[in-house]
Amino acid sequence: MDRLFAPWRIEWVERDGTDDIDGCPFCVLPERADAREANVLAETDHAYVLLNNYPYNPGHVMVIPDEHVGDYQALEATVVSDHARLKQRTIEAFEAGLGPDGVNTGLNLGAASGGSIDGHLHTHMVPRWTGDTNFMPVTADTKVIVEAVADTYDTLHAAFREQAGATVGDSGAVHVEF
Ligand SMILES: [Zn+2]
Repeated sequence: MDRLFAPWRIEWVERDGTDDIDGCPFCVLPERADAREANVLAETDHAYVLLNNYPYNPGHVMVIPDEHVGDYQALEATVVSDHARLKQRTIEAFEAGLGPDGVNTGLNLGAASGGSIDGHLHTHMVPRWTGDTNFMPVTADTKVIVEAVADTYDTLHAAFREQAGATVGDSGAVHVEF
């Protein structure tokens, strides 16, 4: 039986439990003082890249506008552009750091789309390898996942840091200039 590819059905899970985030995690995490602890890899003026704590595959990230908006049509043109260009840079980081054979990417919009957080839109980006299967089954040990995610964070962070115009901000996230 073929495996259904459905990263949008995987809940976003916090590394250290859920009691330290008050409100929308996609609003709170980019404000954290320690980007590595928050899994924030890179940022632009209007969007950022968050490594998924419960990856479908190694390198599974979400590219997220800073604004708390669930309606894609409501995003301003500058934000749409920033978000799109950051997706291009994310593919570049995937290629440099992870060497995938392909990438799946998509937005979940609306209650019926299966997304876990629908008030703050986010694009899933998942590297794929020929013949890959789900990286971690749902029942996998949480500690194994956390350690694997930390390794992937370091690999992708280094790849973003090598990009044209990249600088490292106070939080440790890579700031990308276009
Ligand atoms: Zn939000």
